[in-house]
Amino acid sequence: MAILSTDSANQVPPLAGHDLFTANRPLVEGLEREGASWAAAQCSAFGRRLTGAPLEWGRLANEHLPQLRTHDRFGERIDDVEFHPAWHDLMRMSIGEGLHSLSWTDGRDGAHVARAALFMLASQVEAGHGCPISMTHAAVPALRASAPALAAEWEPLLTSREYDFGLRPAAEKRGALVGMSMTERQGGSDLRTNTTVARPAAGGEYVLDGQKWFCSAPMSDAFLVLAQAPAGLSCFFLPRVLPDGSRNGFRIDRLKDKLGDRSNASSEIVLDGALAQLVGEEGRGVPTIVEMVVHTRLDCVLGSAAGMRQAVEQATHHAAHRSAFGSLLAEKPLMRNVLADLCIESEAATVTALRLARAYDRRAHDSAEAAFARLATAVAKYWICKRGPGHAAEALECLGGNGYVEESGLPRVYRQQPLLSIWEGAGNVVCLDALRTLRREPESAEVFLAEIRAAGEPSLTALAEGALAAVEEGQARAVVERLAQALQGSLLVRHAPGSVADAFLGRASSGYGALGSEGDLASIVERHTPIGELDI
Ligand SMILES: Cc1cc2nc3c(=O)[nH]c(=O)nc-3n(C[C@H](O)[C@H](O)[C@H](O)COP(=O)(O)OP(=O)(O)OC[C@H]3O[C@@H](n4cnc5c(N)ncnc54)[C@H](O)[C@@H]3O)c2cc1C
Repeated sequence: MAILSTDSANQVPPLAGHDLFTANRPLVEGLEREGASWAAAQCSAFGRRLTGAPLEWGRLANEHLPQLRTHDRFGERIDDVEFHPAWHDLMRMSIGEGLHSLSWTDGRDGAHVARAALFMLASQVEAGHGCPISMTHAAVPALRASAPALAAEWEPLLTSREYDFGLRPAAEKRGALVGMSMTERQGGSDLRTNTTVARPAAGGEYVLDGQKWFCSAPMSDAFLVLAQAPAGLSCFFLPRVLPDGSRNGFRIDRLKDKLGDRSNASSEIVLDGALAQLVGEEGRGVPTIVEMVVHTRLDCVLGSAAGMRQAVEQATHHAAHRSAFGSLLAEKPLMRNVLADLCIESEAATVTALRLARAYDRRAHDSAEAAFARLATAVAKYWICKRGPGHAAEALECLGGNGYVEESGLPRVYRQQPLLSIWEGAGNVVCLDALRTLRREPESAEVFLAEIRAAGEPSLTALAEGALAAVEEGQARAVVERLAQALQGSLLVRHAPGSVADAFLGRASSGYGALGSEGDLASIVERHTPIGELDI
């Protein structure tokens, strides 16, 4: 029987086996510019590794979902989550690479930037496992700042490059994961309504009772938890296994059936007489856990930018190989316009994400960078994560019906992107946070404006100044959106090719594919197409 050859069927070759890092020019350039050129070789080796077996691990981990095992065969509660081996392969790979720890263990300037680039590369291939990686990474500064004794005990485990899955006492572990549990049924944004109670117990510990409505990565070894102590809402460190080996009072009621992020387990839990230690001061729970939340917000930005890059890779690769009406899609003026627009969105997200990561490298000893990080984290988290779902939908459409099919990988990106806008502060809440920062810390507006003015582009300065003149609650999204666009425009003017910056500044529509025709759109698409494919 004759079988149609791939060529005659106008099929696109699979996109695999290349180096995700070197193919991503904005990432390569940003890594160097923001102070982490020393990590280029590691990023490149990781970028090559990721397009081998991890692609398949990602598929398997998302098809074979985590299962809750509440009891053992004797009826005893175990509250375990069982994962497909591919999930463990992903976790072992990313922990081995230091995605959860490099910022804290590598003393070189630029460690946050290097870790950001590596995290983005892994997220491009499989986003769900980034959740426990991100939370474990983010727990370290919160413990360092507010619970030095706990940090001394747990940091070696949290930063270990060994993936040690399984609930055992800390003393017997070679590596550990930490999650966070704040959200309750009655509210996730307004944490003041938390009803979980923390009662002081003997030995300085507390006993926690209550329910948590969203608790991701419940298989983690320990959690930062918010609960009401006598002096108000407080932050606690709650291990799942006590030093004597017994299980702490932490029950998993069920796993969430989620739109995306399906490889990762998110759960509803009950705290039933769970022993925990206070982190920070009683009554200062939110400011204490915020040190963890700012880092996971940065990771939401990195994750969204990574999803955009994955979408751009697939769309440009497809258009470079698929023909319609007698020529390649990439050569069609209207498709080129759509692709170029998707590419500049991705580049804008990447340069912003890396600039923000640099602020995290410097903020401990540079007050201007600290002020910039406070405002820019909320601004970038809102805008970049908000742009993710629409970007994924448009990129998916570039592949036509093939993009709508799971095997393309894009439905997974499309389902993942909205999560990053909800998790760690949904859109409105993040915009209101940005407004609060502007009101309480006027210096953050000054350094933010200075960053935008550095481009010497009057239209961007005017956009940002106009936004800052209208700071009122009902306009929070409008303010933050304009600040984000001004920041992205400024970074592109300074650091991207002129064609990219000009196209970004000339955008007249928030939809994709309506760029003005005067720009060099072909060079933009070429810059973002996985290496050299438009030359074939
Ligand atoms: C997959 C997934 C995993 C998660 N994992 C975790 C986890 O591990 N730990 C954890 O603690 N939480 C977790 N969450 C919960 C998440 O952080 C919350 O869903 C989020 O903070 C919003 O809280 P909520 O769902 O209660 O919505 P609500 O607080 O009820 O908010 C609903 C809407 O109202 C808006 N809103 C709220 N206040 C205002 C206001 N003042 N003005 C205008 N609009 C407002 C919000 O922006 C949102 O759009 C997870 C969520 C998801 C989807």
